[in-house]
Amino acid sequence: MDYDYDLVAIGGGSGGLSVVERAARYGARCALIERGPLGGTCVNLGCVPKKILWFGAGLAEALADAPAYGFQVRREGFDWAALKRKRDQYISGIHGWYDQYLADSGIEHITGEARLLGEGRVQVADRTLTAAHIVIAVGGEPVVPDIPGAELGITSDGFFALEALPRRVAVVGSGYIAVELAGVLHALGSDVTMLLRREHLLRTFDAMLRETLMEAMLDAGIDILAGTEVAALERMPDGSLCIDASNGQRLEGIDTLIWAIGRRPLTAGLGLEAAGVTTDAAGFIPTDRFEDTNVPGIHAIGDVNGKKALTPVAIAAGRRLADRLFGGQAERCLDYENVPTVVFSHPPIGTVGLTEEAARARHGDAVKIYETRFTAMYHAITDRPRPTAMKLVTVGARERLVGCHVIGMGADEMLQGFAVALRMGATKQDLDDTVALHPTSAEELVTMK
Ligand code: NDP
Repeated sequence: MDYDYDLVAIGGGSGGLSVVERAARYGARCALIERGPLGGTCVNLGCVPKKILWFGAGLAEALADAPAYGFQVRREGFDWAALKRKRDQYISGIHGWYDQYLADSGIEHITGEARLLGEGRVQVADRTLTAAHIVIAVGGEPVVPDIPGAELGITSDGFFALEALPRRVAVVGSGYIAVELAGVLHALGSDVTMLLRREHLLRTFDAMLRETLMEAMLDAGIDILAGTEVAALERMPDGSLCIDASNGQRLEGIDTLIWAIGRRPLTAGLGLEAAGVTTDAAGFIPTDRFEDTNVPGIHAIGDVNGKKALTPVAIAAGRRLADRLFGGQAERCLDYENVPTVVFSHPPIGTVGLTEEAARARHGDAVKIYETRFTAMYHAITDRPRPTAMKLVTVGARERLVGCHVIGMGADEMLQGFAVALRMGATKQDLDDTVALHPTSAEELVTMK
């Protein structure tokens, strides 16, 4: 069969953009279909605007620390709208860059809703495209619970649209988004309460990380209510929100409630049934290690396949898929083990590999742990001491590094190199043999006893 394209990607986020970009470099004829702005969640409603706000929050903290460093500063206020304007300008610059990049690479950018018609066919508006390979990279959307008044809350999407800093905020959830948004809002001046249905923040992370983060957030003045599941939301006559929790607790006077309780795949209306693509119970599209779905010629990458909802994972999966399909690398696929990740909490977290708990479950008594906790030098003279904590998880007589977990100032920039070392099979001796960078926090990772 003659196809119009070698590859059509549905979704112009991290996954879709990366697969067409790499495929086009191999000479494949590519089209990218996106109904909204290019860049997907990461650029428009996630990593990028969040990181700009996180930098802003860091400045607010630095202003609080400034007197300890001899500066007399008077804080005249904070203009959320001005920061949002700058942030939005930056993001529209990224859109322009992508547009140009696609045009320069000979990739057709089609705006519209895509629908699979089966047998390599995709419909967009009144056009039907045919493609040898179709990549579904449509991403996900935030979950809102099915409880009375849930629509009175916003999600991370609504958070990024806020025109003013909310005064009193409730953040529901305990994952990445909950801790990141709670930290930013608190640092910028909101009064923040977090509602956790269980006991922990970041439940799947190493216990050292989640406990240190909880302690730091409480010390900073964030209210954290554990074991508190929201049962109903109500708008009061004065316009504020009232939260009823299933444990009987009632919280009044909330301006803004943010649901940060997970994300679900955006597959509705995609025509998966017509194409015969199966989904799992939660709606994700399962793929094998090559990102192939159950239908030959249809692949799924990024958040929609439910493997790991992280931008660099979607990018890496997209590039490897293109390498395999068009670059002659028949076995090329993404290794989902040892994917490093950073949480832009306050303080930030960088982590890679097995938690201590997972390592003990897998390797039993062969596990040896190295741990340290200290106050970073920056904080030694501020009135806002924040902890830094590190843990190395090693296995076997050679003490091979299988986990590296850091929370504290600079953790976000520290982990990338250690992720390389772990992937290459570094041992504790390799870390010991590496000369330290001094004075840094990172040096503790190569001097632990
Ligand atoms: P997460 O999966 O990280 O966390 C959501 C958590 O909310 C769950 O783990 C659960 O924790 C809790 N939860 C679920 N349902 C309810 C409920 N009904 N009431 C209260 N709490 C509930 O999801 P996020 O939405 O925070 O983020 C989605 C994904 O996006 C992340 O997993 C991550 O992969 C990605 N992301 C990555 C970032 C980064 O790289 N820095 C930043 C932001 C997002 P529990 O079971 O303990 O209650």
